[in-house]
Amino acid sequence: MTSTDRESDVIAAVPGRLLIGGQWRAAASGASFAVDDPATATELTEVADAGAADAMDALTAAAEAQSSWAQHPPRERGEILRRVYEQLVARADELALLMTLEMGKALPESRGEILYAAEFFRWFSEEAVRIHGRYMHAPAGGGRLLTMRAPVGPCVFVTPWNFPAAMGARKIAPAIAAGCTMIVKPAQQTPLSMLALAAILQDAGLPDGVLNVITSRHAGEVIGPLLADPRVRKLSFTGSTEVGRRLIEQSAAQILRVSMELGGNAPFIVLEDADLDAAVEGAMTAKMRNVGEACTAANRFLVAEPVAAAFTERLTARMSAQRVGRGTEEGVQVGPLIDRPALEKVGELVADSLALGATATTGGRALPGPGFFYEPTVLSDVPAGARVLSEEIFGPVAPIQTFATEEDAIAAANATEYGLVAYLYTRDLQRAFRVCEALETGMIGLNQGLVSNPAAPFGGVKQSGFGREGGFEGIEEYLESKYVAMAL
Ligand code: NAP
Repeated sequence: MTSTDRESDVIAAVPGRLLIGGQWRAAASGASFAVDDPATATELTEVADAGAADAMDALTAAAEAQSSWAQHPPRERGEILRRVYEQLVARADELALLMTLEMGKALPESRGEILYAAEFFRWFSEEAVRIHGRYMHAPAGGGRLLTMRAPVGPCVFVTPWNFPAAMGARKIAPAIAAGCTMIVKPAQQTPLSMLALAAILQDAGLPDGVLNVITSRHAGEVIGPLLADPRVRKLSFTGSTEVGRRLIEQSAAQILRVSMELGGNAPFIVLEDADLDAAVEGAMTAKMRNVGEACTAANRFLVAEPVAAAFTERLTARMSAQRVGRGTEEGVQVGPLIDRPALEKVGELVADSLALGATATTGGRALPGPGFFYEPTVLSDVPAGARVLSEEIFGPVAPIQTFATEEDAIAAANATEYGLVAYLYTRDLQRAFRVCEALETGMIGLNQGLVSNPAAPFGGVKQSGFGREGGFEGIEEYLESKYVAMAL
């Protein structure tokens, strides 16, 4: 089989329709939209284009399934999740190819994301049977306090294109474990991975109506009516702060429970006592994972003056050695950006920095198309005020600034409205704790360039959002507490 045949087979296996109440069906309007390959700017396939009527059908299915799903034995909910984990691992290569085709990142990275997504299903298969309330004596004596846990009810999930499987998995797995039903709307650029995941969940024995998937080109038109409907009890959103803010406002009408995983502007701090080899290695991970299109991507490198020249030189060497190309090709490390606006935005941010006096020690240009490729780039001497320091870059560009003191580094790191993740490199344990405590952020990579772990609480503070995904905290987002005051 040629690689083109294999690509066609993987695409053809995806049900390009809506999943509503256990049925794969076309949009009520009959409309569909194209999904493109960002490496070639050509169409891969079409999927159904849901409208508000389809969204309401999905909600009806979710609402009807809620009560029986909440009664489903936790062990069986866990076993469904476990089967999904096993399927994702067994089919990782095929699912990785599908992801690379629609999203662009190199195959090993897509495979890594499938395995990362799979781990959420394994983790929450184990958590499904560990939902407990409590029974205690009232402190004043006499009565008893009984606490029950219950699923919050039907949820709406909206996910971005940058991690087409994992961002959904982080919501779907704990919601299933907790006994919630759900409607998922994946990003319009990358609906195929979510449809493939939905088919796996269905094959694993998930009852009809528990998971409904609506693909659409009209996000506002399908999500707005859902959030206005009293049957929905929770919204979990991963995406930009701008859209998140709008959805929080809309959620106020029904006082929805809301989880928000929003944008970031991660500082990567290298103190003068850091192990520079480890810092450069970590910098490559924190910057280049997902072509830099990650909320956790290192957005600003803050390097102590005495080691800045050496760090810049080594990072430049590593970045310039990266192989850029179509993510399906053997040996490619850096795929295309998601679309033309993304490519143009990265170009604008670099141009702004250069105009203000920064130097590109490597890269600094878009590469010839037809896909949306940008050279891995390092910018040194980036002056305060450059847009690249305050906006999410979402591309393979590493801006470097220097600092004189630890206090300066902390102040610079915290000088952002975001607070998702920070990275810190130091060999001094006391400094490590001191700086970790001073950073205004939800997560810290201490001497490592990757924080994502299904067993850990992922999430941000400030305008990076609220709520946590993964860890023991992840299932709490889908549970209510009900307290019974008992007179004995
Ligand atoms: P986005 O533009 O905010 O889109 C995210 C999702 O929201 C997509 O499904 C999108 O649908 C939908 N959407 C857009 N407008 C909407 C509206 N008015 N009502 C309801 N839904 C709407 O973000 P993106 O460009 O896809 O993703 C990149 C952003 O996600 C970055 O800011 C990144 O930092 C953030 N992110 C955060 C995390 C985290 O865990 N904190 C993880 C990954 C990404 P369409 O596709 O149809 O536009």
